[in-house]
Amino acid sequence: SRREGFSTIPNVRWDDVGGLHLLRQEFDRYIVRRIKYPEAYEEFGVDLETGFLLYGPPGCGKTLIAKAVANEAGANFIHIKGPELLNKYVGESELAVRTIFGRARTCSPCILFFDEVDALTTKRGKEGGWVVERLLNQLLIELDGADQRRGVYVIGATNRPEVMDRALLRPGRFGKLLYVPLPTPDERGLILKALSRKKPLDASVDLFAIGRNQSCENLSGADLAALMNEAAMAALDEKQKSADSTSNSVRLTIKLRHFEQALEKLS
Ligand code: ATP
Repeated sequence: SRREGFSTIPNVRWDDVGGLHLLRQEFDRYIVRRIKYPEAYEEFGVDLETGFLLYGPPGCGKTLIAKAVANEAGANFIHIKGPELLNKYVGESELAVRTIFGRARTCSPCILFFDEVDALTTKRGKEGGWVVERLLNQLLIELDGADQRRGVYVIGATNRPEVMDRALLRPGRFGKLLYVPLPTPDERGLILKALSRKKPLDASVDLFAIGRNQSCENLSGADLAALMNEAAMAALDEKQKSADSTSNSVRLTIKLRHFEQALEKLS
């Protein structure tokens, strides 16, 4: 496994992301094409935000999208978990912030992703005290060094945008706010489709019908991933049972009944 805070190009592609088309369009304009065709942006004198905050309910694809953006742009990706940054380097977290931005600059173009960024940025004077305060100030210094930040794009993710220090949401910092909603019924179908991309799904299965089903109401992308996994497990169980009882190996696929079993199990 890769160590936290080090850069790699992620293997998540847009194809792995179900729905969220508007977000994809935004990131194409703001990051992907800007990295791929910098001359065009320069020629037209387009100056766009480089800092983003993805907010919304858990498990709806914030991390996934950030990774897909990096992959599509051919950019490095550095994943920082807010709470770890705060706890692992107590007393040294300012240095850690400086180091992280330095590392991002040396491997630019780079997406610097701050997961659970609210942990670092709780409103001043509230919980956390001076550790958060100093960390936050260092973060602001680094974010404002935009001139030296060329090719480094910063994406934060949070389920609790309301607790974040307002100063962080100004332009040039995490300046562009993007909402990542729970999927609609049709988007649930798209997510299931993306999740089944590399699985032996039976041709008879209508993933959009499953997505529109009452029992999938309010499920997040992460919930749908769990559903897909359970359905695949149910199919695999069956395959292994039949392999034990017959000599010729049968090709078993994931069928509607496996999704029904999975839904029952998860409900
Ligand atoms: P959290 O706020 O809990 O960190 P998140 O919004 O960052 O959640 P992700 O980590 O991106 O959510 O999603 C968790 C998992 O759920 C993904 O790895 C993927 O399997 C699945 N998932 C979520 N949203 C989608 C989506 N739009 N398309 C495909 N899979 C998704």
